[in-house]
Amino acid sequence: MLRGVDDVSTGSDSDYSNSWISWFLSSKGNEYFCEVEEDYILDRFNLTGLNTEVSNYSQALDLITDNLDDEIQDELRGTLDVQARLLYGLIHARWIVTARGLSKMIEKYKRVDFGRCPRVLCQSQPLLPVGLSDVPYEKSVKLYCGRCEDVYSPKSSRHGSIDGAYFGTSFPHLLFLVYPNLIPPKVGPVDAAAALRNGGVVAGAGAEAEGARRTRRVREDSEVEGSGSGVGEASTASVALKAERYRPRIYGFQLHETAKLQRWQEATRDRQVARLEAIEDLN
Ligand SMILES: [Zn+2]
Repeated sequence: MLRGVDDVSTGSDSDYSNSWISWFLSSKGNEYFCEVEEDYILDRFNLTGLNTEVSNYSQALDLITDNLDDEIQDELRGTLDVQARLLYGLIHARWIVTARGLSKMIEKYKRVDFGRCPRVLCQSQPLLPVGLSDVPYEKSVKLYCGRCEDVYSPKSSRHGSIDGAYFGTSFPHLLFLVYPNLIPPKVGPVDAAAALRNGGVVAGAGAEAEGARRTRRVREDSEVEGSGSGVGEASTASVALKAERYRPRIYGFQLHETAKLQRWQEATRDRQVARLEAIEDLN
């Protein structure tokens, strides 16, 4: 199958030339995308409404699924390719919030395909892609850090120009909701490998290794939960504890107004954590 000049394959042509999706995924700049399984694309229910968002919808769909007539392909290739990318992106946003899609994205998160948080105190926490809008052509994709809970622009301009709607506004938050064990600890070095080995599936054995880096409070929680329900170990109170913060200082002394504000913020946080602990103890 003939492709444009901008094709950059990381492998040999024979590996990537057999389907549009594998060609798309192997093109430079598309590293954030995961493979949407063909079964999902072929189930028209999953594509409901997309025909109004993409022009030449059925031909774009045929192109993605490698069912496009070769003659049509030559005539319309240029424009169809743009539509096919848009369609794949919009399907991708729906796919990555399904159970199978989430697990594909977790594999990429494990490989740190989305880069690491640039904030020093986040200690190279791996990031997840997020959209600031679910509508295409509005906002480019950003990267969400589960540790500082902030968003960043991708380093590379190729990634910086990807449409955020291809990932959607819910994806990282839904991932952490479904896999609470993947929520990064607020303190200590990132050991993504250890956290991810647990896979967020069972809180049992892995929670013990995690506990060493966490507060006593967290350790107690995970032991209790690990022996029982097998639900994610992270309680809201334990996650909120001791987030590492940057303190502005001049010659070692904290700045007056900032220090005052931080003391107030931390007192407020401690009160909230105590409240949460009281609530969680009741349950
Ligand atoms: Zn961060």
